[in-house]
Amino acid sequence: MKIINKCLSLKELEGYLDNKSVKRKIDKIILHHTSDSLYNWKKGNDSCLLYKKSYEKKGWTSGPHFFIAPEGIWLFIDINIQGQHANEGNNGSIGIEMVGNYDRKLPNDKIWKQTKKLINILLEKFNLQKKDIHLHREYNKEKTCPGKMITKKWLFSQLLTK
Ligand SMILES: [Zn+2]
Repeated sequence: MKIINKCLSLKELEGYLDNKSVKRKIDKIILHHTSDSLYNWKKGNDSCLLYKKSYEKKGWTSGPHFFIAPEGIWLFIDINIQGQHANEGNNGSIGIEMVGNYDRKLPNDKIWKQTKKLINILLEKFNLQKKDIHLHREYNKEKTCPGKMITKKWLFSQLLTK
């Protein structure tokens, strides 16, 4: 599995995506949480490299495209490559992982501000609408991902686009 493994600020990310030409068709965005604790990420006990290893152990050749962490937005799989993160949702999607577990609480300001901005940039870049945003659990009924606290109603109320 080839990962980019580079952390960008929101401003850097905007520039990156502005200049990024994408050849595969993107028709949806799928939101996830890592379900591990934010604390472990901060301590370095969870990281992009460790997720890469754990995905490879499962036999995956790809993964999600972005990890949203407190320190910035990590580029994981190149968005030109189909991801592996949501079963039949993989085709045509961009997968975003919010670091943390959102079954009991909403993401903190840092995580959410960056997630929201990334979603808005992607909606605009690929000419998508709110209805094109999906939660991982829509594709896997056994999961709560991206966390029970994240509902479509809440998510849509947070976004200004149609
Ligand atoms: Zn997920």
